Amino acid sequence: MGLGEKSVIKIKTDRSFRMNTILLEDAIKREIAQGNIPIAIVGTAGTTDFGNIDPLKELASISLKYNTWFHIDAAYGCGLLLTDKYRGLLNGIELAHSVTVDYHKSFFQPVSSSGFLVCDKNFFNLITHHADYLNPKDHDEDGLPNQVNKSIQTTRRFDALKLWFTLRMMGRNKLGGYFDTIIETAAKIAGLLHSDSDFELMNESDISALVFRYRPKNLRLDVCAMNQYIKKAMFNQGKALVAGTKINQQFYLKFTLLNPLTTISDIENIIKIIKKHGNEYVRLNQASADFRRN
Ligand SMILES: *Cc1c(COP(=O)(O)O)cnc(C)c1O
Repeated sequence: MGLGEKSVIKIKTDRSFRMNTILLEDAIKREIAQGNIPIAIVGTAGTTDFGNIDPLKELASISLKYNTWFHIDAAYGCGLLLTDKYRGLLNGIELAHSVTVDYHKSFFQPVSSSGFLVCDKNFFNLITHHADYLNPKDHDEDGLPNQVNKSIQTTRRFDALKLWFTLRMMGRNKLGGYFDTIIETAAKIAGLLHSDSDFELMNESDISALVFRYRPKNLRLDVCAMNQYIKKAMFNQGKALVAGTKINQQFYLKFTLLNPLTTISDIENIIKIIKKHGNEYVRLNQASADFRRN
């Protein structure tokens, strides 16, 4: 929107990594007291790191109270719309003014296929920019449709076509079943990591993103350095790649499951590879660490 990063106020999350609505309201009051005008609340349905969903209904009522726009980033969580079993997790999304969705994530499309949805089509007028050579104003008045009025991007591929085909060929129930599978596979893998005392699992995910690190008992080495080593060694070996992230300045590994064909044994194999490289790191570094200590 061209407002600059300083116009964005970050709100801390609670212990389950969902936006803390008390701190949100505090921040709004603080900005108003300073003479600023809060214009929008942006919630996330499916955070990139944890796959968690902000308390959407509470955000909606705060947005109503302070008369702000309410946007939801559902780039990752939009797939919940397809499932009857977990659809309830998105309750409150109907209260947003606008929502972003990434069909190339949770609707199983190849990149790119995204949408910006608004609750009233007249809101598209807010992002319309008229240019005489492109979408002159009098075309609108003549009732001629122009896709440029519905997009921030001008030239673009027909990204909707593949989505249309998928929905026609497979239907919502089949895609929803895929999404259920992903959520249930992630929950089982969370169970695996949780019950293995050599791993630390950082979160419970509403969807399918697990943040964790390898930390064998009695480790006397730097746990962040070891997990960074694991990620790099896996890249160099080329059998499997694992994502990484930082939480409170600490390095963690991450699984984001988005393929319904991924099995528990696929992930068990990756866990074995992680352990192998972790143990290799211990072998390479423990002796010299002990030597320095003595
Ligand atoms: C992936 C993601 C984005 C960015 O989406 P792109 O399609 O890469 O532009 C934004 N928000 C969330 C929560 C995401 O997971």
